Amino acid sequence: MTKGYLDYQSASPVDPRVVEAMTPHMIEHFGNPSILFRSDGDAARQALEEARERVAGFTGATPAEIVFTSGATEANNMALKGVALKFQSKGKHIISSVVEHRSVITPLKYLERLGFEVTSLPVDAEGFVNPDDVEAAIRDDTILVSVMTAVGEVGTIQPVGKIADIAKAAGVLFHTDATAAEAWIPIDVSTLPFDLMTLSSNDIYGPRGVGALYIRKGTKLEALVHGGGQERGLRSGTENVPGIVGFGLAAEIMGDEMEADTARVKPMRDRLMDGILEGIEDTTLNGPRDLRLPNNANIRLAYIEGESLLLSLDMEGISVSSGSACSAKTLEPSYVQLAMGIKHEEAHGSLQFTFGRWSTDEDVDMVFEVLPGITKRLREMSAFKPGMTYDKENFGHHGPA
Ligand code: PMP
Repeated sequence: MTKGYLDYQSASPVDPRVVEAMTPHMIEHFGNPSILFRSDGDAARQALEEARERVAGFTGATPAEIVFTSGATEANNMALKGVALKFQSKGKHIISSVVEHRSVITPLKYLERLGFEVTSLPVDAEGFVNPDDVEAAIRDDTILVSVMTAVGEVGTIQPVGKIADIAKAAGVLFHTDATAAEAWIPIDVSTLPFDLMTLSSNDIYGPRGVGALYIRKGTKLEALVHGGGQERGLRSGTENVPGIVGFGLAAEIMGDEMEADTARVKPMRDRLMDGILEGIEDTTLNGPRDLRLPNNANIRLAYIEGESLLLSLDMEGISVSSGSACSAKTLEPSYVQLAMGIKHEEAHGSLQFTFGRWSTDEDVDMVFEVLPGITKRLREMSAFKPGMTYDKENFGHHGPA
C-alpha cells in the first residue's frame, strides 16, 4: 500500500491497530462525553480521558496538561494567540524563527497586525537557530519564545532544550512545535522546561484532524474558541472522540516503538542519502548530517527544477516532496531553504524524502533504479546550466551570473 511512498512528512497512513480501536467509537460508543448521568456519555468520557492519559504518558505530561485540538495548526494558534492575548498587558514582544511552519508564522503575522512585535531569528546554513541569538533578543517586554523542535523539511533538530533554559531564566514562556520531531525524538516535558508544546496525531500514525497542546500546569492562556466550555474552556466544541481515541493509542504505540522504528528507518535513510550524494553528481545535502531527524533526507540536485523531478518520480510510482509540501501550491522555492542561504535556483531542485513506519529497503531501491536516469534526462532538457542564475524580475529567464 505504501510502496514507493517517501513523503511521510506530508501525510502518514494511520496504523491499522489505531483504525481498529477507533471504529467502535463511531458505530457503538458514539455518545457525547458532555452528557452526564447516562452510560453512553460516561463511556465516551472515559474513552476521552483514557486517550488523554495516553498522550500525556507519551510526553511526560500529566493528563490535565493536555488539551485536544483539531491538529497542530490549531495547537500552534492556541499557544501563540492564547499567550499573546493573556499577557499583552505585560508585554507585546514575541521571539520566533524564520524556519517555523506556516501555522506559526501566519498567526505571528496576524499578531503583528494587532500591535505585537515579533523578532524572527535567522538560521545558519544548516537551519540551526543560535541560542545566543535568542538570549540577545529577549527584552523586558518579551512574553514568549517559540522555536520548533525540528525542522521537518530539512531535518534540523533545534537546540530547544538550551533555548527553553534561556527563556526560563529570563522569565519568558517557551513554546515548541514538536510536530515533525515527535515520532523520532523522545520528549519528556517533566524534565525539559517547555511551557507549551504542539503535538499532532497524524505524524505518529494517528488520524488526521486531531492534535493537542501541552500546557504546563499554571500556564495561563486566553481561549480562542468559545462555546460549550469543553477542554477546560480552552477549546469548546463537542470532542472528536474517535479521533482522540486513535491519537491516544497512536501515542502509546509510538512511545513503545520509537526506538525500533528509528533503528529500522535510519539505515534506510542513510543508504538513500549517501547513495544519491555519491552516485549522482552535483548533489548536495540540505540540513545537517548529524543532529538530523533520522527519517529525513533532503537533497538538492543542481540544474533541475523540483517540480519536473516530482512528476517524473510520480510516474514511476514514487512519492516525494520538492521543498515544503505546504509551499507547493506556489512556485516560490522553499522559504526554509532560502533562509539557510540556499540560492533561489538551487532550492528549486531540492527533493525531500521522508521515511516512516512502513518504509522498506525496496522503496530505496525504487529510487536508485530511476533517479539517475531521470536526473540525466532532465539536466539535458533544463534551462538551468552551470554559471546561470535565477532572475527574480523575469521568472523563467536565466542568464549568466
Ligand atoms: N507544524 C509542523 C512542523 C508541520 O509539519 C505541520 C504539517 N504537518 C503543521 C504544524 C500543521 O499540521 P496540521 O496541518 O495537521 O494542522
